Amino acid sequence: MSDELHAADRTAEKLAGTEGGFPEQEQTPPGLTSEMNPLPDHGEETWVGRGRLKGLKALVTGGDSGIGRAVAIAFAREGADVAINYLDAEQSDAEDTATWIEKAGVKAALIPGDLSDEATARKVVDDAAEQLGGINILVNNAGAQWARREHGLEDVKTEEMDQIFKVNLYALFWVTQQALKYLAKHDSIINVSSIQAYDPSVALLDYATTKAAINNFTANLAAELGEKGIRVNAVAPGPIWTPLQPATKPGESMPKFGSDTPLGRAGQPSELAGAFVYLASPAEASYVTGTVIGVTGGKPVF
Ligand code: NAD
Ligand code: MG
Repeated sequence: MSDELHAADRTAEKLAGTEGGFPEQEQTPPGLTSEMNPLPDHGEETWVGRGRLKGLKALVTGGDSGIGRAVAIAFAREGADVAINYLDAEQSDAEDTATWIEKAGVKAALIPGDLSDEATARKVVDDAAEQLGGINILVNNAGAQWARREHGLEDVKTEEMDQIFKVNLYALFWVTQQALKYLAKHDSIINVSSIQAYDPSVALLDYATTKAAINNFTANLAAELGEKGIRVNAVAPGPIWTPLQPATKPGESMPKFGSDTPLGRAGQPSELAGAFVYLASPAEASYVTGTVIGVTGGKPVF
């Protein structure tokens, strides 16, 4: 217990630095952790594993950075082997995540590949299953957005839509279809939705549309896979300090990022990991499917 309190204290200390907002900054997509100021917290110093995913095998798309990295670290400390998928440009981030996974004493598999290509998306899943010896937990976390726009609809370009719909939706279908070759009773799928599914921003019109669709996909697939004992859920993050933000939003919006939430600040990736561990745990979430857990700093998800 005292260890846990200590961990909570340390998280609170890190968060204190985010309350005044972030310095102005911009990156080009997909963005790198090392170029962020301040660096995000992925639970490196705080997550305490209790063996809740012992012996399981997980594939986390977009597991190199941000929310995916926090999930990969927590899953590893809970005893799961973890494969992460990411883009070639993110190799340095992926290697950092792999170091943390391996330090937890489990296996890390690095599987680069662009999920907006169908053949690659399917191969990523097969490679993960081959390298880990199966898949029990699929986390569909990779996502793309673009918000350097003055308006909504009139500023949405077809190339942007193609990229965003392919990564957020087409890949969700391809990766999940392929993973069903490996998933069995007690296994689970966790999709990553967003507060944008409930409270959409004008500049994120196409992205918000995909996140609402991900909720619908989650409910529908949970109904289909219930009889197989495979659970399907989603996590809806609010504003979280990850490379996605400086890589896709105007640099001058960073100082106020997250300040419009009831808690008055952006969240850290580390603050999402608990929701994913819970949903992935066959024992703790055994009767939980077709639902969405909001981790939004207080913005409602109902
Ligand atoms: P992130 O940039 O750390 O992670 C997104 C990842 O998506 C990247 O690391 C990249 O590996 C992956 N990706 C993008 N395009 C890809 C492609 N073509 N092929 C393969 N992988 C690709 O940012 P994050 O904020 O941790 O994002 C993770 C998820 O969380 C996304 O689905 C995002 O929409 C969602 N989300 C984030 C926030 C937030 O405020 N950060 C809020 C709500 C939802
Ligand atoms: Mg990344």
